[in-house]
Amino acid sequence: MKKTTGFDRSKTRQWQPATQAVRGGTWRSEHGETSEALFLTSGYTYDSAEIVAARFAGDEQGMTYSRLQNPTVAMLEERIALLEGAEACRVQATGMSAMTTALLCQLSVGDHLVAAKAAFGSCRWLVDNLLPRFGIETTVVDGRDLKAWEEAIRPNTKVFFFETPANPTMDIVDLRGLCDIAKAHGITTVVDNAFCTSVIQKPMDFGADIVAYSATKLMEGQGRVLAGAVCGSEAFINDVLMPFQRNTGPNLSPFNAWVVHKGLETLELRARRQSENSLAVGRAIEHRVSRILHPGLESHPQFELAQSQMAMCGPIFSFILDGGREQAMAFLNALELVDISNNIGDARSLCCHPASTTHFSVSAEARADMGVVEGMLRINIGLEDPIDLIADMEQALTQVGL
Ligand SMILES: *Cc1c(COP(=O)(O)O)cnc(C)c1O
Repeated sequence: MKKTTGFDRSKTRQWQPATQAVRGGTWRSEHGETSEALFLTSGYTYDSAEIVAARFAGDEQGMTYSRLQNPTVAMLEERIALLEGAEACRVQATGMSAMTTALLCQLSVGDHLVAAKAAFGSCRWLVDNLLPRFGIETTVVDGRDLKAWEEAIRPNTKVFFFETPANPTMDIVDLRGLCDIAKAHGITTVVDNAFCTSVIQKPMDFGADIVAYSATKLMEGQGRVLAGAVCGSEAFINDVLMPFQRNTGPNLSPFNAWVVHKGLETLELRARRQSENSLAVGRAIEHRVSRILHPGLESHPQFELAQSQMAMCGPIFSFILDGGREQAMAFLNALELVDISNNIGDARSLCCHPASTTHFSVSAEARADMGVVEGMLRINIGLEDPIDLIADMEQALTQVGL
């Protein structure tokens, strides 16, 4: 492999994920820079009129406009595809633009989508409000219930859309079981893997067709920029997603792509340490809260399923206080180290009240139906020492009378 330019996929595909996370997709300029170059350019110039004509005609490889290609962005796409074990990836400006693009690029009026009812608020909004406006029928089911998915299938069902673990109820969807059902019916599975990333869970290993991301979360990992990504087969990405993306323009800026690159270099380390910390904090507070929903704790009703498809528990869990919204908010206000923040995947520990924030846009009925109760809190455990995190959680619980 040439060390200064290009990437040789036949080699990089064989690397272990930690190597791919640091080096995958690197495409060096003639200067041989060590860190990926940041190409802040919207357009490109050409040595001749014939060259640009050949590029537009598809007869010659090369950049033409940054809505279509950008070297910094292309490096990130290659790296994410490698980590996911996907044939191809395209990145978008935010996780929500990734979800919107992944769904709208393949659904048309008259199609039907089935989604898990427990979902990130804006994902649920797409299912409940956006898709129906364009004549796309939608049904929501309990994502944990394979029979419910099967029963929701209609002749026009085209897509299954879900997260696992779901935000913020931590419901686990049986990836293998559901992908098998989808395959048997010719249905495309779109998995929102933002809670995990490929180092924790690889939905394609269980048969998923498309894996979509908010890269804002664990991938970027340090709470700096918004980003999204969609991974899939070359046929899907090039023939279905790209015609939509290149003409609607949900692009990720090269600067933000570069920041995500820096995040990926430490993804595995962060995911591992944050999962360990999350487990330590979860164990420490488990007996003091009325319910904890933590995929790494045996008290999770789907603990075994989580263990079978997740390599680590991840940094996020939820817990419920009996005193409802009042006690949950008092707990947040009592925290001294952990910040009140609705972001996740950050290196800092952040805690929020989903019913009044991430799931505020979902109707009260839908919230109740998916189990987002008023006393629920969701926490992202960061890279701080768990000793300090546990001390903070314990003093906050004491302050609210628990
Ligand atoms: C945050 C999040 C999104 C949305 O991502 P943005 O980058 O904020 O647009 C989608 N799905 C899940 C599960 C998320 O946690």
